[in-house]
Amino acid sequence: MPNYITRSRVLLFAAAIAACVVANGGNATSGMNTKATDSINEGASAPEEQNPLLAKWAGPYGGVPAFDKVRVADFKPALEAAMTENLAEVERIASDTSAPTFENTIAAMERTGQTFDRVTTVYGIWGSNMNGTEFQTVQREMAPRLAAFSDKITQNEALFRRIETVYNSPAKAKLTAEQQRLAWLYYTNFVRSGAKLDAKSKSRLSEINQQLAGLYTRFSQNLLADETDQFLVMKDEAELVGLPQSLRDAASAAATTKKMPGAWVLTNTRSSIDPFLTYSDRRDLREKAWRMFVNRGDNGDAHDNNALITEVLQLRAERAKLLGFATHAHWRLDNTMAKTPERAVELMEAVWKPAVARVHVEVADMQALADKEGAKIKIEPWDYRYYQEKVRKDRYDLDQSEVKQYLQLDKLREGIFWVAGELFNFKFTPVTNVTVFHPDVRAWEVTDKTSGKHIGLWYFDPYAREGKRSGAWMNAYRSQERMDGEVTTIVSNNSNFSKGKPGEPTLVSWDDATTMFHEFGHALHGLSSNVTYPTLAGTAVARDYVEFPSQLLEHWLSTPEVLQRFAIHYQTGKAIPPALVEKIKRASTFNQGFATTEYLSSALVDMKLHLAGSQKIDPDAFEKKTLTELGMPGELVMRHRTPQFGHIFSSDSYSAGYYSYLWSDVLTADAFGAFVEGAGPYDAKVAARLRKNIFSVGNTVDPAAGYREFRGRDPQIEALMRKRGFMAKDSKAGGPGQSKKSDGKQN
Ligand SMILES: [Zn+2]
Repeated sequence: MPNYITRSRVLLFAAAIAACVVANGGNATSGMNTKATDSINEGASAPEEQNPLLAKWAGPYGGVPAFDKVRVADFKPALEAAMTENLAEVERIASDTSAPTFENTIAAMERTGQTFDRVTTVYGIWGSNMNGTEFQTVQREMAPRLAAFSDKITQNEALFRRIETVYNSPAKAKLTAEQQRLAWLYYTNFVRSGAKLDAKSKSRLSEINQQLAGLYTRFSQNLLADETDQFLVMKDEAELVGLPQSLRDAASAAATTKKMPGAWVLTNTRSSIDPFLTYSDRRDLREKAWRMFVNRGDNGDAHDNNALITEVLQLRAERAKLLGFATHAHWRLDNTMAKTPERAVELMEAVWKPAVARVHVEVADMQALADKEGAKIKIEPWDYRYYQEKVRKDRYDLDQSEVKQYLQLDKLREGIFWVAGELFNFKFTPVTNVTVFHPDVRAWEVTDKTSGKHIGLWYFDPYAREGKRSGAWMNAYRSQERMDGEVTTIVSNNSNFSKGKPGEPTLVSWDDATTMFHEFGHALHGLSSNVTYPTLAGTAVARDYVEFPSQLLEHWLSTPEVLQRFAIHYQTGKAIPPALVEKIKRASTFNQGFATTEYLSSALVDMKLHLAGSQKIDPDAFEKKTLTELGMPGELVMRHRTPQFGHIFSSDSYSAGYYSYLWSDVLTADAFGAFVEGAGPYDAKVAARLRKNIFSVGNTVDPAAGYREFRGRDPQIEALMRKRGFMAKDSKAGGPGQSKKSDGKQN
């Protein structure tokens, strides 16, 4: 089955706690794309064997992507050929004259689209990691066509009748539990995609999907243009006052890239802006940088996203109505753990109040410090990170740049491997017998520590560069399955760390280290997969459940076992001193007002935009009105303002779904409690339960049921409130704990 319908997903990092990232399907210019000059008959329909993208993956480990053979010019003909092949495969199933069975319909569908999966996997990697103007042209043309292709399958009436027959057949009771769940999932996904609509509605639905695909591409390309084309140039060293050496080096390197040697350039991405706002003593420049960043996509110019958003929201509202749902939010949440927008909103509002109350305390602390310094200012949004850092130093004697000297990227990578060994008995061995798409990328083989059995491959693309979208994410190049023999998985982690100078180790911040553990949590979720059918494998779970394994892994960074072994000073080689660890621990709930409020304001605006129905929305006005009603403190802004909210406007995937991080974090905080109540973070019995019921099951079980098996009860919200340092006054607050027994739809 085409992988973007159900299977493949790119998992972004946007945890509410750590300073993080995320952009949309990136684009930006790049010189990395292979030239197409020596290419095959361009434009003509090349025979399959001539287009390397269509070839089966060859080589070790059951085959690996041939990254060395990728040419951008091959994408379009490869996608076209793969779509044609996939439609023919599906048509064979749909027109089968024998009675529909699980095997000849659902299992048969699982075997379709293998070429398409391979091509779109590499296409997705080029979209995120290797983007450039040539590729963007392909994207603009192919996005609507891929949407239409997907609709052709879900709107195939004969096919749907067969799926429906299998789903409603009494014979279903004889299938395995996994097969029954797969039949339920196929049926549900097809119905959700409009399989039951009449011909006229189906045709309108497909039009909407194609228009949306085009708008998503334009939204992403606009945002990337503002992140690439806008920057702050500094020519006088006095403008750098307050900045640590690593930021000065990065600004100098950026200036060289922009052909302005001798100057310093502040690029318009979060990984540049946040540290600048934290350290720059120049309040005027902080304000300038802040305005540039929060106005991405909102400048009233050719790259302004407001009109696009109005159109997206109206099309989404119309589509939801066509599909029989009150709003886009109701449609999106129907197949999640939360089930309804109301339950998601209930949880968000319960956390919102204490978070805002905490912001007021934080602002008062910062104002007092500014007054004491005689700054004669009122705290504004461009002052928040700056004074927050001063308060942190003042109160906890904790200096982030001191911590950073103990956080070497390579050592942390060894640390996450070690954790995977302790929890899941995994062993990571570097390999060089596979090709990579950029010299910075490396690959490791994952085996079982005891038996040596091959488990999968892990690719790691750690550094920022032009043509790579910002943020951090995981994706699966191939899902684990064993329908026709064991197929092992290939997963990757991607991030945007600033590479150290040649010969020097790359040092990362505590937040970056947290991101690394987060993404690795997604990778372990994929690597632990132990299912039969690819559609149910690994991370292909409900959107508001998928951030649970990843956010859980973040907890292992601060364990003494990891810090003593792997937080090693880059010059002295000494482990991080216990006194510094103690300071990190004491400061762990510091600034949670800011982090939670900037996240939640985005999540609430996302949900309210998608609950608003078909009214014509002016995004800026709607955002302003919603924030006023919520009582948003004036000293900070949404983590992602509407015109730059790539999560929700570069595709459907996180739309009406940004709440997922909080929902999952209720599970995360509660689940870590199982280790704390046991023998600690490395309790082997708890880890075994975690693997058995959470990490290995993919989407073969209902998530609430899987959680209950692991924890022995439903999750409780108190652990989250404690973790963030909020008093759990209202423990009746929604969240996963109040979930119904089961989703009841699998029968
Ligand atoms: Zn994530």
